[in-house]
Amino acid sequence: MNSKPLDPFWEIKHLNELTPQEWEALCDRCGLCCLNRIQDEEDDEIYLTRVACRCYDIQSGQCSDYPNRLAKVEGCTQLTIERTSEFTWLPETCAYRLRFENKPLPSWHPLISGTPLSVREHGIHKYDPVNESDDIDLEDYVIDEGVGDW
Ligand code: SF4
Ligand code: SF4
Repeated sequence: MNSKPLDPFWEIKHLNELTPQEWEALCDRCGLCCLNRIQDEEDDEIYLTRVACRCYDIQSGQCSDYPNRLAKVEGCTQLTIERTSEFTWLPETCAYRLRFENKPLPSWHPLISGTPLSVREHGIHKYDPVNESDDIDLEDYVIDEGVGDW
């Protein structure tokens, strides 16, 4: 049986009051921030692709080397309270962005549903992701709906 924690810290605390453990727990592991994006050279428009970072383990649905991710992958960004002004690049469903905008977490967030399985259809897997590799051209994997709607 799934159980909701008694203390919904994500509702009663501001982001800057979270402990490191609570900050980590806020991430729903959707993986959407691990998808590559490309910028059109002509109009600067940003497009989302379904090409995941080399380090993303599609099968297990998580970073394959989370502790070393920042050293291993150029461009991997650590989300911190000091960087909240940059959170607009995150998907609208990202828990950090939602709480920064004072919006509730969705019912499928593991902190609410009690299971990480509830994220599957709302995260990276809904785009049928592939891993980045030398023979992949990102332009061939642009997701039509664009980055504004993800
Ligand atoms: S988009 Fe947000 S909630 Fe999803 S994996 Fe990235 S940081 Fe975590
Ligand atoms: S290194 Fe890990 S957390 Fe960072 S973008 Fe790649 S898969 Fe995501």
